[in-house]
Amino acid sequence: MHSAMEQRCLYDYNLTELTELLRGWGEPAFRARQLYRQLYVNLAASAGQMTDLPAALRARLAEIPLSTLRLERVQIGDEGLTRKALFRLPDGAVVETVLMVYPDRSTVCVSTQAGCGMGCVFCATGQLGLLRNLSSGEIVAQAIWASQELRVMGAAGPAGRVTNLVFMGMGEPFANYDRWWQAVERLHDPQGFNLGARSMTVSTVGLVKGIERLAAEQLPINLAISLHAPDDTLRSELMPVNRHYPIAELMVATRKYIEKTRRRVSFEYVLLQGKNDHPHQAIALARLLRREAPRGPMLFHVNLIPWNPVPGTPLGRSEWERVTAFQQILTDYGIPCTVRVERGVEIAAACGQLAGQQGVMVQLS
Ligand code: SAH
Ligand code: SF4
Repeated sequence: MHSAMEQRCLYDYNLTELTELLRGWGEPAFRARQLYRQLYVNLAASAGQMTDLPAALRARLAEIPLSTLRLERVQIGDEGLTRKALFRLPDGAVVETVLMVYPDRSTVCVSTQAGCGMGCVFCATGQLGLLRNLSSGEIVAQAIWASQELRVMGAAGPAGRVTNLVFMGMGEPFANYDRWWQAVERLHDPQGFNLGARSMTVSTVGLVKGIERLAAEQLPINLAISLHAPDDTLRSELMPVNRHYPIAELMVATRKYIEKTRRRVSFEYVLLQGKNDHPHQAIALARLLRREAPRGPMLFHVNLIPWNPVPGTPLGRSEWERVTAFQQILTDYGIPCTVRVERGVEIAAACGQLAGQQGVMVQLS
């Protein structure tokens, strides 16, 4: 399944590995540091642009792909402030990345797999099934694209660089943990891309092993957990993963994570009309979280997400009154709770809408 990943690109190497590579070519270590800066700080679009490197070295580097993501199209929404890139991988699979520009920040939503094997019924990516894991370089290169795009846009002020990164694109990050974590470390590296750990958020469908591993990591990135139902019957119907990791197990792992890290966790809850948005379900959710909350400060909050339409599903988006009623109940129970305002719905760039369909059509036409 991973044969295409044998084609390593420059963004697949960390600084130590680049140093090794260049040493094999008889180059001193400082050349690797120059190359690393070109990749992660200057965002060079080709080896030819790395003019502080000797021509012979540039020529040699040009034989290795800089990135294996081929940009196929960019769709623009929200008056230019939301941009969705569709990339084709060497083996033909497609992945999508979304850049959202706000007055005070810019957030990039990154994919970790082509497709996803978790099969959540409300998610467009889930309908694709898992095509393959992305390499660390394919994950990193999406953030690089977002930075380059911001430069092209001429975005000014704090929004002129990637300030926040969410692993909420296609795929389940914890199902590709090793490569995903290599990407996190590389994007965090202060000598390179220099994105703060607290500026990164990973969202998981609830793979308990991944939550346990993340709790043991040194870098304090943020954790969001997709909950979407207050009971096992409904959660298993919506998210097949619940049959392996039911709510009680997920809650034990979450509690341990909070106790160990003292970091606040977000629970995501997609609101589906008539399915999981009844007042009695809001009460059940509030009770569940209060029961499971560790003693002391409530180190979690709930992020309500009005469902974004996915063609071919019988599901519906909750009406706004039902969203606010649900939120009010949680608030009354003392559960910190926000409603996520979506970007990019008209270009199918919002949460759960990434399916790469447009790109397939472009390729065939
Ligand atoms: N696989 C991970 C991360 C990617 S999905 C996860 O499932 O958590 C990011 C978020 O979007 C998850 O909370 C997911 O449940 C949610 N989501 C999926 N489909 C959606 C849709 N159609 N509308 C709104 N949110 C959706
Ligand atoms: Fe995969 Fe997340 Fe979509 Fe579920 S919601 S199918 S885990 S991408």
